[in-house]
Amino acid sequence: MSLSFDIWPCFGHRATGTVLRETSDVTLDPALVAAAARRDSHHAHPDHIATLVQQTDTASHLIDGSFSGTTTILDAFHGAWLGVGVSDALDGELVCVDGVIWRVPDTGIPEVADPLATIPFAVAAARAPAELVTYETVPSGMNMSDLGELVGSETHQMIVLRIEGTFRDVVLRSEHRQTPPYRDLDAVLSTDEVRWHFAEWSGVMVGHQFPTAQDGVLIPGIHLHGISSDHLSGGHVREMTVIDAELSWAPADVEVTLSDDGEAVASLDNHQPDQKGMNG
Ligand SMILES: [Zn+2]
Repeated sequence: MSLSFDIWPCFGHRATGTVLRETSDVTLDPALVAAAARRDSHHAHPDHIATLVQQTDTASHLIDGSFSGTTTILDAFHGAWLGVGVSDALDGELVCVDGVIWRVPDTGIPEVADPLATIPFAVAAARAPAELVTYETVPSGMNMSDLGELVGSETHQMIVLRIEGTFRDVVLRSEHRQTPPYRDLDAVLSTDEVRWHFAEWSGVMVGHQFPTAQDGVLIPGIHLHGISSDHLSGGHVREMTVIDAELSWAPADVEVTLSDDGEAVASLDNHQPDQKGMNG
């Protein structure tokens, strides 16, 4: 199936220098087309702009055990300001904060990631244009699901977010490096997850909130990775409760690229009114 549709019609704001195609002919997986076609048009607005998020590979591939790195960190996080990901063979959780990419292996000690290392999955957001960003002070006592409701209740479907401050009851995780043949992610986490508990923790958490009905293309719900202010701890955020924190968030459009061929397979807008070509 060959479809034609507009990609990133409003990306004059994009922070990086990559030239984006106005129109692209791409071959799409029918399931991804279906997911993209269900984009929420409730907020349709002709002046739609959003932060570009580049996602390497699909959530379902990661969940099914596609842990072999095929895209370099340099490519996956090209121009990124914040983001999350995992290392080749699940050898560490990745967190991109203010353009610096950290890897948190099972030691729990973050290190600046090797830009030439390959990875299987990443969600990397360009720096949002200032006019798109909403800032708010997060009430003390908010946990992960409260935070999801806070940003989900009044925002578009897909957002990227950054929360910085002091937290309590923080649980971070990474996992042991895996060896092929890989088990699926649930099986890995059932035996090889490593967790760190912090009564109090200061630092930055970044990530996204994506909608639930995306058929495995996106990781649904709120998803955060963090790194502490002293750069001595970090990882995937399982739990946290806010003591005192500042939140910033922006609407996002997501381009999903399969890591094996670099081809764009899905383009999901927050509220682009036209769904050109999506009916095939
Ligand atoms: Zn994660």
